[in-house]
Amino acid sequence: MELNPNINRTIAVMSGKGGVGKSSVSALLTVEMARRGLKVGIMDADITGPSVPTMFGIVNIRPTINEAGIFPVETEKYKIQVISINLLLERPDQPVIWRGPLLSKAIQDFWNEVLWSDLDFLILDMPPGTGDVPLTVLQSMPLDGAVIVSSPQDLAFMIVKKAIHMVQQLQKPVLGLVENMSFIQCPKCQEIIYPFGQPKGKDISTQLQIPFLGELPIDPVLSEYCDAGKIEEYENPKIKNIVDMLMVGFS
Ligand code: ADP
Repeated sequence: MELNPNINRTIAVMSGKGGVGKSSVSALLTVEMARRGLKVGIMDADITGPSVPTMFGIVNIRPTINEAGIFPVETEKYKIQVISINLLLERPDQPVIWRGPLLSKAIQDFWNEVLWSDLDFLILDMPPGTGDVPLTVLQSMPLDGAVIVSSPQDLAFMIVKKAIHMVQQLQKPVLGLVENMSFIQCPKCQEIIYPFGQPKGKDISTQLQIPFLGELPIDPVLSEYCDAGKIEEYENPKIKNIVDMLMVGFS
């Protein structure tokens, strides 16, 4: 795929397996970047498990489509440009039952046919794992790199290592690792509890010689906001640190 003149930087957010918070982290990165005055978009490349429209509360909005292409839907607060298969389906609960080549074609169309406008950053929320779509994206899109999201119970990181090695084998930069759900802080006494044992993200990053971007706690407010479509309201200083670290690679 060719460079898109309307997109300055493209970052894929990947994970070894599902449920580790990859979509939430993708959305939080775009929100934090938008708060810094950057123009950002998010492509929901998780075609069979799209969750981006729900987090931003835009499930009932349909993109404008004309002969020029598809206009991404803009979020209410920060005007983040969003495209997702769920915004294009007649009913969002319809399943997408497509084989790999068709899924990859959808991603190519999201890149080529969507009228992204003047983006500083496009974040790609990738499907989990190392299947067809991640392969297409890593092989054929002009990516600046990948952010890897993991959780401490990722089978002692066997699975996350596969995702990191895939990016490296396809010769794209690994921009860093985010360890999600690392700890929980008691709201009453502030004690920090590690339900899955001591966080391992930092050690693994050192071992694999990739940047460690930071940890995020288990936070019931985050899941509540995601479900309620209010992710643009969510605040956490840890996200700021993660974006600070990520931006070091672009300065
Ligand atoms: P993935 O994209 O890896 O499948 P999601 O981002 O969809 O994962 O997250 C899975 C579920 O876990 C969602 O319900 C989300 O709201 C919740 N979740 C993700 N990260 C956190 C967190 N740090 N604290 C609390 N809930 C979280």
